[in-house]
Amino acid sequence: MKIIMLARNPSLYSHERLVEAAEARGHTIDVVNTLRCFVNITSHRPTVYFGERALTGYDAVIPRIGASITFYGSAILRQFEMMGVYPLNESVSIGRSRDKLRSLQLMARDGIGLPVTAFAHDSKMTEEIIASVGGAPVVIKLLEGTQGIGVVLGETHKSAKSVIEAFRGANVNIMVQEFIKEAGSTDIRALVIDGKVVAAMKRTGAEGEFRSNLHRGGSALPIKITPEERSTAIRAAKCMGLNVCGVDMLRSNHGPVVMEVNSSPGLEGVEKATNIDVAGKIIEFLEKKVITSEDKSTAK
Ligand code: ADP
Ligand code: GLU
Repeated sequence: MKIIMLARNPSLYSHERLVEAAEARGHTIDVVNTLRCFVNITSHRPTVYFGERALTGYDAVIPRIGASITFYGSAILRQFEMMGVYPLNESVSIGRSRDKLRSLQLMARDGIGLPVTAFAHDSKMTEEIIASVGGAPVVIKLLEGTQGIGVVLGETHKSAKSVIEAFRGANVNIMVQEFIKEAGSTDIRALVIDGKVVAAMKRTGAEGEFRSNLHRGGSALPIKITPEERSTAIRAAKCMGLNVCGVDMLRSNHGPVVMEVNSSPGLEGVEKATNIDVAGKIIEFLEKKVITSEDKSTAK
């Protein structure tokens, strides 16, 4: 196969591992900086250029689009889809997963376990919002935050109220969630590929930190997940339409709840914690889709 990976930083662990895994399996893979690609929308001949070079002849595209460039990155990916290149994850699904609220709305419709969540625009509704998720403590989240930034614990009613008002004042969109205290600063990341959980780890926040993100100093260990957690992760991936994703769950008193589904999951934490060759499994998935199947790109 001839693979193209859209990534801004080729020296990130995840990107290096994907290149290594593709080459080890006899494929060629080019890594291009998403932001340096440009598009020519011409009838019958959709093309993506990188400098003078037309990026043609690829069988598959691996989007590793950072949250901050979702809009531009999705447009470039969509152009590859128009050219019939098979995307590891489709642009529509990536866009969906980048909006936490939209993701929760879709998963709620499918009956997937979620933390009780509320959002409202009217600043006069603050009291009602806090009450509707069961009162303080509550978790307040920026809708488009990532790596734990923009996730705040409002421990008391008063502090929750001031955090909500501060975010409002800054004119950003937020949601308010019940605080799953019983999760004990630990979340579960299940790596789903093609409808199967291939690896799972638990992440625990640093001392005194309720957020378990590795970027926030959390630590990772392998974990054996329950059948219910496994099926929740698989259903979440399916609901979002993602072939490859990281599903983040908390163990709550009312069963596993999904916090978010990450469409460009980092591989370092999970590979090192579990010793599983996740990058190899991703390439294997592309082989299955591209080499043995007729349906190249079905993205619309
Ligand atoms: P991000 O996308 O920025 O990582 P998350 O929604 O995953 O944001 O939240 C970051 C971390 O905060 C989670 O990994 C989890 O440890 C903790 N957390 C988030 N929501 C809740 C919640 N409702 N109850 C308890 N802990 C939470
Ligand atoms: N129609 C798709 C769905 O219901 C897309 C909706 C969306 O991405 O918001 O899953």
